[in-house]
Amino acid sequence: MKNVYNYVAVIGIDGMGNFNKSADTPCMDRIFANGAYTYNAMSMDPTISAENWGGMLLGALPAVHGLTNGYISAHPYTDEGLPSVFKRIRNAYPDSYLASAVNWEPINIGIVEDGIGVDKRTADNDALVTQAAIECIKQKPKFLFVQLDEVDGAGHHFGYGTEDYIKKIGETDALVGRMYDEYVRQGIADETLFICIADHGGNSHSHGGWSVGEKFVFLAAAGRYVTPGEIEYAVTKDISAIVLAALGIDVPEYCESGFSSQVPALICEGAPGYRIPAEKPPVAHEASPGFKAPGGLGDLFDDKLRLCMYFDNDSADETGRCSVSETGSVKFYSNGVRGETAEFGATGSYSVGGLSFDKSFTLAFWLLADSDLPEPAYVLGNKSAEDRRDKGFAVFLRNHSLMTVIGCGDDDTDSVTAFGADGFSGWIHVILSFDYEKNEVRCSFDFKAEHTEITEKRFIDSVSCGSVFTIGDDAGSEFNRKRGLIFRIDDLLVFDGADDCVISSKLKEYYSRKAAIC
Ligand SMILES: [Zn+2]
Repeated sequence: MKNVYNYVAVIGIDGMGNFNKSADTPCMDRIFANGAYTYNAMSMDPTISAENWGGMLLGALPAVHGLTNGYISAHPYTDEGLPSVFKRIRNAYPDSYLASAVNWEPINIGIVEDGIGVDKRTADNDALVTQAAIECIKQKPKFLFVQLDEVDGAGHHFGYGTEDYIKKIGETDALVGRMYDEYVRQGIADETLFICIADHGGNSHSHGGWSVGEKFVFLAAAGRYVTPGEIEYAVTKDISAIVLAALGIDVPEYCESGFSSQVPALICEGAPGYRIPAEKPPVAHEASPGFKAPGGLGDLFDDKLRLCMYFDNDSADETGRCSVSETGSVKFYSNGVRGETAEFGATGSYSVGGLSFDKSFTLAFWLLADSDLPEPAYVLGNKSAEDRRDKGFAVFLRNHSLMTVIGCGDDDTDSVTAFGADGFSGWIHVILSFDYEKNEVRCSFDFKAEHTEITEKRFIDSVSCGSVFTIGDDAGSEFNRKRGLIFRIDDLLVFDGADDCVISSKLKEYYSRKAAIC
C-alpha cells in the first residue's frame, strides 16, 4: 500500500470519553485542525480500561480477548493466536524501535507481550509519563503508545464532567502538545500519524456501564494522508487496524471471534476501510412510556402505585412520592426491558424513603441474572442480611430460584420459588405479593401461575417492623458489596394491596404491548 507513514503515535487518555468537547484544549485543537475526528467513537461494553485498552492493542472485542483489570495486572500477555499490535509490527519490522509509556502499569504487564523488544516505561504521574514518552520520541519509535491516567482519576474523584475533571483535561491537553512538539522538533512530524483516543468516559464517579457519558469517546488523527473531516463510525478496537494500515502492514481479515479491528473512514488514505457494513452505535431500546401518558403506569394504576422506578439512567421515582438516595455508584446499561437498566449490588444500591409496609403490598420488577452467582444476592428488602435481630423482609436471587425471607434471624421463614424446569436466562418478570389478610406470600414469574407460601401471622406482621427499604443491597450496603455480587433490575414497582390478579393482568398487557416477554 502506498501512503505509508514511517511512524505512528497513539496517545490514550484514560476516562476522557468525549468530555474534551467542553474543555479548553488548545493543543489538540491545533494538532487536529486538519485532522479526522469524532466525538462519538464507541467504547466497548463494559466501558472499563482493560477491556478497551486490550481491545485497542489486540484489535478484538472484550468477549474475545477476555482481559479484565484484575487479570492483566498479574498475568503477562502470551496469547499467540491474538498477538498485540506491537508484536504484529515486530514481525513486519524486526529491527524497529517500539515503545509503550504508561501511567497504568497493567497495560505493560498484561497486554503488551514481553520478549518482543518493546521499550516499556511506566511512571507514577502523567507528567513523568510524558517525559518518558519524549525520551522515546527522541529515538524515533516506529510505534509509540502512551496512556495518561489522571483524567480518569479526576473523574473517579470529582465526578466525570465536573469542573475539576474538565480542568484536568485541559492540563492533559498540554502534555499531548508537548509530545506532539517533540515529533516536530525531531523533524519527523510529517512522517508520523498522530492519534488521540480515550478508552471510555464516565458517569457520576465511575464507569463500566453503557450510559451516554460512558460509551462515547473522542478519536482524532492527524497526518499527511488523513482526510480532514468527521469520522462516521469507529470503535476503540479499531486502533490496531489503523496502526497496521498506517505502517503499511497488511490488516488481518475481519473475524468477529478474533481480530475484528477495522480502519475507520478518513484516517488512512487507500486503506481498505470498514470491510463489513459499518458498525453503527447500538440502538437504544424503546424507553418507558410517559408515566402519566395514556396507557402509562401512572395512568393504569393511579394512587395504587407507591413507587415506580424506570432506571432510565437515573434514580427518579416517577410517582414523586418517595425519596431515593444512592450508596456507591449504580451503573446503567442500555439493554433493559425498556430503555436503560440499572446494575446493582457490589457497585451500588439505593435506599428509598417514604414507603411503609404496614398493610398488604405487592412488588413487581424485572430481573436479569446469570446462573453463575457464587452466592445468593440480596435483591431488595427492608431488613439487614447480616444482623440476625433485624425484622422485615429480604428477597434474594439464587442461581435457579428467588428466595424471600421474612421475620428475624432467630425466628424467620423463607419461601423459595424456582424459576422452572427450563432454567432461567434473560429477563424474568417477578410479582411478589405480601397478603396480610391471608397470611400469604405469593410469587409469580412472567405472569404465570403463582407460587403461594402460607405463612404465619407473626412472620407477616414482622415485615412492617423492618428498617428502610433498599434496592441492590441490604441496609448499610454490606451484603453484596462484601461478596462482590452484582445483578440487574428494571422497572421496579411497589403497589398498595396484595395482587388480586388486577395488577398482574394489567402489567402483563402493559409489557406485552411494547416489550418482549420472555
Ligand atoms: Zn480506563
